[in-house]
Amino acid sequence: MPLPVTPPAEIPPTNPRLDAVPAYRQGRSAPAGASKLSSNESPHPPLPSVVSAVADRLGSLHRYPQMAAPEIIGRLAERYRVDPALVTVGAGSVELASQLIHAVAGEGDEVVFAWRSFEAYPSLVRIAGATPVMVPLDAEHRHDLDAMLAAITERTRLVFVCNPNNPTGTVVGPEELERFVAAVPRDVLVVIDEAYVHFDGSAYFADAPGATDPERGAGLELFRRHPHVAVLHTFSKAYGLAGLRIGYAIAPSAVAAAQRKVAVPFGVTDLAQAAAVASLDAQDELAVRIAEVTAERDRLHDVLIDAGWPAVRSEANFVWIPAGERSAELDGLLHDGGVVARTFPGEGVRISAGSAQDVDRVAAALAASTRNPAHPTAAVREEATA
Ligand SMILES: *Cc1c(COP(=O)(O)O)cnc(C)c1O
Repeated sequence: MPLPVTPPAEIPPTNPRLDAVPAYRQGRSAPAGASKLSSNESPHPPLPSVVSAVADRLGSLHRYPQMAAPEIIGRLAERYRVDPALVTVGAGSVELASQLIHAVAGEGDEVVFAWRSFEAYPSLVRIAGATPVMVPLDAEHRHDLDAMLAAITERTRLVFVCNPNNPTGTVVGPEELERFVAAVPRDVLVVIDEAYVHFDGSAYFADAPGATDPERGAGLELFRRHPHVAVLHTFSKAYGLAGLRIGYAIAPSAVAAAQRKVAVPFGVTDLAQAAAVASLDAQDELAVRIAEVTAERDRLHDVLIDAGWPAVRSEANFVWIPAGERSAELDGLLHDGGVVARTFPGEGVRISAGSAQDVDRVAAALAASTRNPAHPTAAVREEATA
């Protein structure tokens, strides 16, 4: 019998589990000349030393990367004084978040995390067949750790703590976090996602060794003190390697071994590995950039407050404005001023801390608002709309 010319749309059938999974939405791209402040990227182009480390590998593109990533894993293990077997790398820490979920959870299991938080969590959990349990942030846009504890059941296998939280920029202090970790049952993995830890001046146990190291945040200290903690770090944000895709996890040995089983082979290129090593060699230069970004972040916060928007104090490289119903209005103002932010309709707007010029642009965009009667264009607009 001949095949029908137009097969029914549902053939071949797709995994019904995916029906509830939205495709990941990338931060909006920006038209030429606009400030792209929608993806928490570094405003700085890569360091020359990093570019040259990558360029040195271009002649070997016909070879597969080293899957065990020995150099970068060795460097990270040395830096954090952990067994290299506990360190895994992935194509960005989002891949490692996925590995960790697959390593410990499956059909019928639950994964607890705050909401709103990193947009990838709900999808990654559903793709693994597990159920996301989303616990609302508190009134200060912070993790509600008591409510998260109360949400843990015998089906819970993993809890994410995004610290600082994306998109709100709020943090859970080290002592608070330790009380939480100690209260979570030992058979539940606590994953502390520290994608923005470099920008967080409050992330340290004051008495921890190396408390001044911008990367030795609370996560690593808790990893040392408790058997059921994993930490996620990335080279994408503070280190400016978002385009190369490399992050790392430090996890208990059984979990790290399981991650290696679920990892898609050869996910991390040699170029990314080399760039990460070169970045570790450029700590001082990167520290200067990080300090610039945090200064601009605070200025961005003040600019927003001065213009009457309810910006939340941030410890990351972005600022959250819980503008609620006025989110679209803020998005429109920014857009008209050549600034592309990330807007969650009806909820809020997240603006990444860019360069000084980017923040100046935000200031100009807000000043152009008809809400600001001091601005020359306001009167004109008033007339036009009157
Ligand atoms: C950006 C981000 C990541 C991961 O970024 P990668 O580029 O995949 O390393 C992980 N967690 C949070 C909370 C993020 O915002």
